[in-house]
Amino acid sequence: MQKGIVIKSTGSWYLVKNIETNEVIQSRIVGRFRINNKYLTNPVAVGDEVEYIIEQEGKGMIKKILPRRNYVVRQSPRQRQNLHLLASNVDQAIVMTTIIDPELKIGFVDRFLLMTEAYNIPTVLIFNKADLYEAEEMEYYEEIKTIYEKIGYTVMLVSAEDAIGLEAFQTLLKDKTSLIAGQSGVGKSTLVNSIQPQLELRTGEISDYSGKGQHTTTFAEMHPLTFGGSIIDTPGIKLLAFTHLKPDDISHNFREIFKASKDCKYGDCSHRTEPFCAVKTAVENGAIAESRYASFLQLLEETEDQNYWERHKDA
Ligand code: GDP
Ligand code: ZN
Repeated sequence: MQKGIVIKSTGSWYLVKNIETNEVIQSRIVGRFRINNKYLTNPVAVGDEVEYIIEQEGKGMIKKILPRRNYVVRQSPRQRQNLHLLASNVDQAIVMTTIIDPELKIGFVDRFLLMTEAYNIPTVLIFNKADLYEAEEMEYYEEIKTIYEKIGYTVMLVSAEDAIGLEAFQTLLKDKTSLIAGQSGVGKSTLVNSIQPQLELRTGEISDYSGKGQHTTTFAEMHPLTFGGSIIDTPGIKLLAFTHLKPDDISHNFREIFKASKDCKYGDCSHRTEPFCAVKTAVENGAIAESRYASFLQLLEETEDQNYWERHKDA
């Protein structure tokens, strides 16, 4: 039995890198993983440590997935009853964004943080395209930086265009396995290429013609970094939905809301309309940011909205 790390998943084949020789082999999985994990659209994730054997024709067969230290999972955009593993065994996650071009959707950041909070994965917010920020955008950036640093996240400002903050970005990545995500157009590929020129991240989205109609698919891929560490790229994330979650999953993973909720009068407080709600009080006096509370309410509503997926069919 050989030991390796899954570096790419296409849905039916997996590329596994041998832990000792670094040799990469195309592998498949035995059917029973699918049965044991029928709630997962992909039973093996990039980052998984696996045991495999080499079959006669020189291909690998994954026999065992070693226990995961952590993982990042979202609701499958195609099969809402199923979950899609984005990656496993990561040291940190990076959500890349920009204030303008395209305009910031802070809700996306909060959705991303909900996903990484469940396993306490350290998450860094990187704002790219600093070269485009005028006074107004800088003011907004500073406001956001204050909000997220206050609740314990690292926030960085960079510009791939003007080479601002590139050293700090490289230091952040060095010797770690980092999941990197961001909506397309924020400059993720440009930024990564600027510190690792040989690495060509796929830009844009990949279409998959299998199944009903044309869908956007996310196939994560792990890329080694020559200065140490690796990044796991997750292209094509347009929508992060969590309608499979329960209200508690949401309130427990907005860290400042969870913290404040210990002082709510009612143990089952939903932090919406109940009296003596410490969360609402904290929003009113500014201790909890209104934008975070708005994201929280939005996600709560989605868990109750049966028609959510009807309206987001093409995501
Ligand atoms: P991705 O979809 O996130 O991988 O984005 P790309 O790397 O393809 O970049 C999208 C567009 O933004 C391209 O036209 C880039 O040239 C541009 N871009 C990337 N980084 C910067 C930056 O720091 N400043 C400016 N002004 N443009 C940038
Ligand atoms: Zn409350």
